[in-house]
Amino acid sequence: MTVLDRGRSTPDLGRMSLDIPDALAAVRSLIDTAVVAAGRDRASVSLVAVSKFHAAEAVQAALGAGQTLFGENRVQEATSKFGPLRVSHPDVVLHLIGALQTNKAREAVRIADVIETLDRLRLADAIAQAAQQEGRLPGLLVQVNVGDEPQKGGVPTADADGFIDAMQTRFGDAVRGLMCIPPAEGDPTPHFQWLAAAAARHGLTQLSMGMSGDFESAIACGATHVRIGTAIFGHRPPASGQNDGPAVA
Ligand SMILES: *Cc1c(COP(=O)(O)O)cnc(C)c1O
Repeated sequence: MTVLDRGRSTPDLGRMSLDIPDALAAVRSLIDTAVVAAGRDRASVSLVAVSKFHAAEAVQAALGAGQTLFGENRVQEATSKFGPLRVSHPDVVLHLIGALQTNKAREAVRIADVIETLDRLRLADAIAQAAQQEGRLPGLLVQVNVGDEPQKGGVPTADADGFIDAMQTRFGDAVRGLMCIPPAEGDPTPHFQWLAAAAARHGLTQLSMGMSGDFESAIACGATHVRIGTAIFGHRPPASGQNDGPAVA
């Protein structure tokens, strides 16, 4: 089951045309509508096009339609796909949005502009060490496990304030904001509100929340980055074994 099947009161994006430029335009227009409905400025919400498990050709098609901000789950896939693309498209911005193992931190620091899944001290150590070795520190978002679900990444809500403080002390302004993946069932709004309040407490301005199935309520709650894959690129190939959504990433 994907987030598209959650039965939330959102448009049926899964049936959209798989023509990538058309799908992108449709998603952008839905985002615009949600941003305006929330009384927010159009430029305040960025679309992260999640291209995981889709070929470089799909990314090329999105680039051709003016999309430069992309999200990938796996470091190796991100490197093999975006390493070559960056040469021809230096304006590409890449966010890593999947659970990150410490032994992949160095490659992540090399390829990512933003790592959205900083969620534990050992990973912070690995990123700090990699940043020193590579001479480059990506932007960082702290991922919070807003539903405190055992199978999901993210710092538990009870530890979030302490962990965010520690990360701001350690990485300074490189910590840009917070990210979450709310539980698949139920109303995501309280979780989005929780994340927005936590960001405000820490003076953080970026909020990565909202996917194909719930981006409208995320935008109403203050999302600055919505991460959308299926609605742009279509369903992920079954061979990827990753059609069950981000929890298995
Ligand atoms: C795959 C993924 C997305 C995109 O999900 P869609 O349902 O395809 O829009 C967003 N965020 C994360 C963390 C993901 O792993």
